[in-house]
Amino acid sequence: MFTSGICLRKCLCLWVFITILNVIPVWANGNLHIVDKPIIWTENREQLIRDYAQTHYGLSQVTIVPQAVVVHWTADSTWESAYWTFYNEARSDGTLNVASHFLVDRDGTIIRLTEETALNRHAIGYNWCAIGIENVGGVNGREDLTEEQLLANIELIRYLHSKYPTIRYVFGHYQQDKARESGLYIENVSGYHSYKIDPGASFMEGLRMAMEQEGLVFYPE
Ligand SMILES: [Zn+2]
Repeated sequence: MFTSGICLRKCLCLWVFITILNVIPVWANGNLHIVDKPIIWTENREQLIRDYAQTHYGLSQVTIVPQAVVVHWTADSTWESAYWTFYNEARSDGTLNVASHFLVDRDGTIIRLTEETALNRHAIGYNWCAIGIENVGGVNGREDLTEEQLLANIELIRYLHSKYPTIRYVFGHYQQDKARESGLYIENVSGYHSYKIDPGASFMEGLRMAMEQEGLVFYPE
């Protein structure tokens, strides 16, 4: 009886240990620290999104099924300037304003600006299916994103990939042409294109090195 009691306790301890090991990754993802600071969201914004999706993609949608993550830099030095740039619903020409879903500050703080499945205007050709992460930095095209931002992007993309298994591609904005290989690119307005360098090759190399074994497709820098 005594021996059986020890065995039972050992088994119980082992079970608890294994259970804890299994729970840790889920707990870690769920516990990713994200600061919510939503930009203004109204019916007007939703109508502008619908108009944009119709014009550029021939689609009628205000939300997305995420299939890609596009990484950017803000080309500015404070999160506030990016936040207020994205805040308004419309640009001066009356069309949908630019915005990303997340903004990562220099110290790695992750700020969520909209619902994760909102359709936001941040990457021509891919807005219908891509989540955008903006990183504060890159002023005058200098590749100066921080180690803290790299770690925060890795954790954020892991969190998104686990939450939305439909995500398969991760690319930098400057890789937008190469990323057409994904088959995700759609653009109905001819000549609508812009040259991009963000967020720099070394940042994308850092992300690829850390994550390419995790079932995500990256492109050569
Ligand atoms: Zn960009």
